[in-house]
Amino acid sequence: MSGNAHSLVTHWIGGRPVPGASGRTAPVYDPARGEQVAEVALASAAEVDAAVKQAADAAGGWGETSLSRRAAVMFRLRELLDGRRDDLAAAITREHGKVRSDALGEVARGLECVEFACGIPHLLKGTLSAEASGGVDVHTLLQPLGVVAGITPFNFPVMVPLWMLANAVACGNAFVLKPSEKDPSPSLLLAELAAEAGFPDGVVTVVQGDAEAVDAILAAPDVAAVSFVGSTPIARHVYEAGTRAGKRVQALGGAKNHMVVLPDADVAAAADAAVSAAYGSAGERCMAISVVVAVGEVADELVGAIADRIPGVVVGPGDDEASMMGPLVTREHRDRVRSYVDGAAGEGARVVVDGPAPDAPGFWAGCALVDGVEPGMRLYDDEIFGPVLSVVRVPTYDEAVTLVNANPYGNGVALFTRDGGAARLFQRQVDVGMVGINVPIPVPVAWHSFGGWKASLFGDSAMYGPEGVRFYTRPKVVTTRWPDPASSAIDLGFPTTS
Ligand code: NAD
Repeated sequence: MSGNAHSLVTHWIGGRPVPGASGRTAPVYDPARGEQVAEVALASAAEVDAAVKQAADAAGGWGETSLSRRAAVMFRLRELLDGRRDDLAAAITREHGKVRSDALGEVARGLECVEFACGIPHLLKGTLSAEASGGVDVHTLLQPLGVVAGITPFNFPVMVPLWMLANAVACGNAFVLKPSEKDPSPSLLLAELAAEAGFPDGVVTVVQGDAEAVDAILAAPDVAAVSFVGSTPIARHVYEAGTRAGKRVQALGGAKNHMVVLPDADVAAAADAAVSAAYGSAGERCMAISVVVAVGEVADELVGAIADRIPGVVVGPGDDEASMMGPLVTREHRDRVRSYVDGAAGEGARVVVDGPAPDAPGFWAGCALVDGVEPGMRLYDDEIFGPVLSVVRVPTYDEAVTLVNANPYGNGVALFTRDGGAARLFQRQVDVGMVGINVPIPVPVAWHSFGGWKASLFGDSAMYGPEGVRFYTRPKVVTTRWPDPASSAIDLGFPTTS
């Protein structure tokens, strides 16, 4: 960390930027150039507590604000985000490194969640059972929780915060975001736009920080619910500590996504999809394809077709329009990713392609394709989170399903085939939360919900869409009777319907 030469990425508390008082900061890099471009404030536990208090002060009034007013502010936020797509994408590219088209795609998918939440009056209608019993009506109110927090990973610094923020605030909560300290600036732009849209001060808060801030959020009595997205070990920690403290928690973790290619698949289309989904965003997507499972005789042709396509992937800075894949987020992460390729032969696998990367400062890794990978190798067992695609060869469909289901992760999976019957069977048999049939990255649209199974999600609620509305509200069931006083009588029996 170097001191004053770099601009400070601040917190956003009480409707304005707040520099932070802990004295702790962390460096923020431009990964394409390998240079520090800013430093980010790291909140102390006391600063988190103060931010949560501001949010708690705002939550009551906001939760009482009419649905039509809340929807109007959401619409305004939608317009502002739409108008600032380029700025948001540029902010992402600067600190994350992903290429501009990919950053714009991330913004678009985040915006979708805001558009879904614009329908909040409809989504919060609750239910009514008229005449549930004689003269008795029952209805459900969906009420906000108060203060809810979001803790987000580096790889989608706009989309993942919006997965949470949109429904959280539309449901009437105050939202406290703790973004990744690796690319913290886009979160401030989101907070500024939220203020401009008309959210009252304290409804949208950003506390920058690291593990200390996360643990303070988990301990804060006023935080009713925590949404987390990140790696599996931290997701497990957040889930366990948060629920122990009595909070509602949804914690999405890591992934190892397989793409199963059956012998009848269109090999060219499958190879295009594998290259796009493995190397897009330099493999730093929780829905990236990490393993191609080649079934039967398709393997040789498929591996050849993927290898042929890799030289066409242009690796370069994200702000260069010619680039298709940018750098990795940090030097340490790049070195870790490279260790899998460098160690592949030693594990008994075969490196088919070890693609070139820019010979320049920056955290660069080329596209790698490794064949002959098996469970038990680090290449297979670990989430690599980089541009390394492994190929596992299996003889039959059944063995492909057994392999996928034995994996501890269950985020996404894809099947490539022209056989509708096999596709139907697969979607029913596979133990994974999000399935693509001839779709390599099956991120659900915003009016469905996003969530993996097994070690990819702790908790019982997926994120955004209808599940998000459920997560950010508490149902209250009201049973009503307006009896004729003349018919009133004492009855000590347990109430039954009639
Ligand atoms: P990470 O787990 O290192 O960090 C996520 C968040 O946790 C950050 O805000 C970070 O500051 C915080 N954190 C880090 N260490 C902590 C600690 N010891 N205690 C408390 N908090 C801590 O994840 P990352 O490297 O930023 O993101 C990549 C990971 O996120 C990958 O594993 C990827 O699969 C996963 N991811 C999952 C999804 C999904 O939807 N399942 C989506 C995106 C990313």
